[in-house]
Amino acid sequence: MTVDDKLINPSTEPCIFCRIIKGEIPSHKLYEDDYSLAILDINPVNQGHVLVMPKKHYKTITDTPLRLLQHLIEVSYDIVMAVQKTLDPDGFNIIQNNNMQAGQLVPHLHIHLIPRFGGDEKTFGFLWGTKKIEEKEMKEIKEKIIKTMKK
Ligand code: 5GP
Ligand code: ZN
Repeated sequence: MTVDDKLINPSTEPCIFCRIIKGEIPSHKLYEDDYSLAILDINPVNQGHVLVMPKKHYKTITDTPLRLLQHLIEVSYDIVMAVQKTLDPDGFNIIQNNNMQAGQLVPHLHIHLIPRFGGDEKTFGFLWGTKKIEEKEMKEIKEKIIKTMKK
């Protein structure tokens, strides 16, 4: 990476993902480097639902440098592989919403990696249903995926 995308926004930035990136709000972190962060979604469609985001605040795909998007895809690939080995889902939805008209609720670019299981009976897009998963289980699954990524 050569673009200056490891710059994090100033502390006046109210964006919830910027606050997570700065460590002001806790998250279940799976991976981070200078440019990207991957966390478990707080309201997952299924266990192992991951969000991959740049550390620098960009709202949508049209605002984001291509090289950074390529990096986020590389990170997503590694995480999908680890989630596949860890949870053995039957499929994945990989979704990235742009602007509220397309279902974007958090205006900081992110890629959803959503493991799907036969019979989970969910739709996708902004009409998807979510599950409440206990904190203990979130922590366990995070640790399992991280362990698999290190193998
Ligand atoms: P969007 O609709 O913008 O594509 O998706 C935003 C996602 O961010 C949702 O799936 C939502 O559950 C997740 N989310 C919102 N706030 C938080 C948070 O504070 N922590 C985490 N880990 N995920 C969040
Ligand atoms: Zn942000």
